Amino acid sequence: ATPTALMVGTGRGAKMGILIKNGEVLEAVNDVDTVIFDKTGTITVGQPQVTDVVGDEAQVVQVAASLEAASEHPLAAAILARAKALNLTPIETTAFRAVEGKGVTAQLNGQTGFVGNQKMVTDDQLSATLKREMVRLQNEAKTVVLVGLADQVIGLVAIQDAPKTTSREAIAALKARGLKTVMLTGDNQRVAEAVAQQVGIDDVIADVLPGDKADWVHQHQQTGKVAFVGDGINDAPALTTADVGIAMGSGTDIAIDSGGIVLMKNDLRDVDRALALSQKTFNRIK
Ligand code: ADP
Ligand code: MG
Repeated sequence: ATPTALMVGTGRGAKMGILIKNGEVLEAVNDVDTVIFDKTGTITVGQPQVTDVVGDEAQVVQVAASLEAASEHPLAAAILARAKALNLTPIETTAFRAVEGKGVTAQLNGQTGFVGNQKMVTDDQLSATLKREMVRLQNEAKTVVLVGLADQVIGLVAIQDAPKTTSREAIAALKARGLKTVMLTGDNQRVAEAVAQQVGIDDVIADVLPGDKADWVHQHQQTGKVAFVGDGINDAPALTTADVGIAMGSGTDIAIDSGGIVLMKNDLRDVDRALALSQKTFNRIK
């Protein structure tokens, strides 16, 4: 395309709230054949809520909230909100530690406590009942965190982050263009598959460590051109690695800086609108 056509295209985008940082980005959009999405905050609203507690609710939530008090994870915020709603006062902890992709641990009442996913425990620490409840809740698209004290799992908390109302339509539009859609998440496989099914996403890559997201983008680039859509701090490397990085306007500053495109209206349907715009820009000058 000519520089003028590209400028007109980026100007049109800006009017629609689709910030395209330069003409080359618009050109790259035209070649994309796979769109990879982050889950939390991109496909889902990003405001997880506690939906179920298995075990003695007051005890399980109090221990979990005490351990999560120093965490900045969205799951921690959900647990702390539930504790507040139940009028539970957190117990003081020491030696707080976040374990990447797993959860957190801390000392509480002279015991080691933990909150996190299945990777925090061995198989024999999980009773058959808890395991069954965990699987059931995960199949309902709920993220399950196990709560433990002194090597003993005392219960679990299920946390749900609903898909955005527009996610399904946004994915359908991309698939109608013949694009492959993939979801990349640190969450559990069952939860990821349940969310993917709700919104119509083709493929799921789950249990991904934050540092490995860019590698997955790179892997998909072996067979085609990839757009990555994300919002979080740990999405920044994937956004820069992708042929087209698309950041949500509501995302963290580093995500916005790393994206070649920023969706100012936080509307996932704008991924398809950006594709339509690039196609128009290129057809016009043919
Ligand atoms: P994502 O942002 O996609 O959820 P993360 O790497 O942040 O990916 O987390 C992956 C998984 O690790 C979570 O789904 C959860 O099971 C567990 N986890 C991480 N941090 C915490 C935490 N503070 N409390 C409980 N679980 C956690
Ligand atoms: Mg996110």
